[in-house]
Amino acid sequence: MLDTPLNQPIDTSLPFASLEAALAQPSRFASLPPAFYTKLRPTPLPEPHLIAANPLLLADLGLSPMDATRTEFIDLFVGNRVLSGAEPLAAIYAGHQFGVFVQQLGDGRAISLGDAPSTHGPLELQLKGAGPTPYSRRADGRAVLRSSIREYLCSEAMHGLGIPTTRALALIGADQPVIRETVESAAVVTRVAPSFVRFGSFELFYHRRQYDEVKRLADFVIAQFFPQCAGFSDQYERWFAEVIRRTARLMAQWQSVGFCHGVMNTDNMSILGLTLDYGPFGFMEAFDPSHICNHTDEGGRYAYNMQPRIGLWNLYALGQALVPLIEAETLETLLQAYQPIAEEAHDSLFLGKLGLVTEQVDDEDFLQATFAFMAAQRIDFTLFFRNLSRVRKGDASGDAAIRDLILDRAAADAWLATYRTRLAAETRDDATRAAAMNAVNPKYVLRNYLAETAISQARGDQGPADFSEIERLRVLLANPFDEQPEMERYAAPPPEWANGLEVSCSS
Ligand code: AMP
Ligand code: MG
Repeated sequence: MLDTPLNQPIDTSLPFASLEAALAQPSRFASLPPAFYTKLRPTPLPEPHLIAANPLLLADLGLSPMDATRTEFIDLFVGNRVLSGAEPLAAIYAGHQFGVFVQQLGDGRAISLGDAPSTHGPLELQLKGAGPTPYSRRADGRAVLRSSIREYLCSEAMHGLGIPTTRALALIGADQPVIRETVESAAVVTRVAPSFVRFGSFELFYHRRQYDEVKRLADFVIAQFFPQCAGFSDQYERWFAEVIRRTARLMAQWQSVGFCHGVMNTDNMSILGLTLDYGPFGFMEAFDPSHICNHTDEGGRYAYNMQPRIGLWNLYALGQALVPLIEAETLETLLQAYQPIAEEAHDSLFLGKLGLVTEQVDDEDFLQATFAFMAAQRIDFTLFFRNLSRVRKGDASGDAAIRDLILDRAAADAWLATYRTRLAAETRDDATRAAAMNAVNPKYVLRNYLAETAISQARGDQGPADFSEIERLRVLLANPFDEQPEMERYAAPPPEWANGLEVSCSS
């Protein structure tokens, strides 16, 4: 029997030491030749403090929330302690930024610590904001608290929504000033994914004419992450087809929750089809198909409705880099699969959101009419779909849930009438349809104003720094489809003060 004081919970998780043991070895990526990265240590940050630790991911790694409060944990995940045997590294890559090819980028502020075993297989743990690397290009290698909170919360929110994404294990802050438009403070997010290899990782070697490295990287990625393609004579074709499929589907998934990535440069495109690199992202509120969430993106290259097209554009850039492995003609044929997959995924997700599962000839027209209605009325994207489950097939008793979102009641009634006509073709009863709709239409998303409130409290803008809102939002957004009645106010559209909120590439 353990002699534990009654007021202290017993730590039943695996010892933290087993995570340390895993990280005290070179990662799988470090088994590639030195051309792919630079091995280096994070730059220490004085007096780090834990801001948030994600109990879901801690559990997947076999740790308990108590483990995250240990000094050893904080020192390890802020980059102040490097385990002997570990080979932390920054990866090199290139990328098309806003359509322009940049020959060399790379992890300018991210340092991978190593791989850890988890319930989902081995995961790479990477510190974002851990100090300069050879790829920092005159920038400081740091990330500010503001953008780190946004990344921590949004990657977990996307996971809660069931959308493929990198995840976040911990968020650690320090008082060290970091200069952006104003002076902010530094933070480090531990990002987690099976791999952080990007489209741009392949582009770098192709454009340098290092075709052996293109092959080497493809072989590594296929062996580690696409074993179902390995060993076939057409393994590269099979793999690229899978990357195309995942990317097409991801774009549809983003659009289905109103998500705008903001910086869909090819260096931010995951080869695994994950949502990667949370910067000036946003969840659309008032519906506008050409909504631009990134203040820096003046031309709207990465606007909401551009995302599927850009996904394909980026796949062409990747395809170009794979010319040493796949015949040009075959690449073209494979890429032609994108559009039908993207459209199918988009339409089936949106029809599901509308509660329409019987196929009708005018489904596409109805979808377009619905988008036009939403845009004309600038309806709140999330509330519209969520409230729609209350509309009934046989009578207007639930219509207020939609009418109340819209000033032009006549326009609302006109659309509701067409919706009810379409619902007549559905065989499910109201309750069954409503339950299915509520399982795909989130009630809660990370609205900018919600993130801003957590940021402001964490910075201590109006008193002592308080990190509790970050955890409150993480818990809320882990189950975005649940009602959570005590959290009702977090479903509200943005308040007046949030009108001026802008997000940009500055992070
Ligand atoms: P992003 O727009 O965040 O995807 O970053 C584009 C490139 O700039 C990547 O190579 C980043 O590593 C690098 N970068 C962005 N911010 C910084 C920073 N503060 N310090 C060093 N490199 C950075
Ligand atoms: Mg990036």
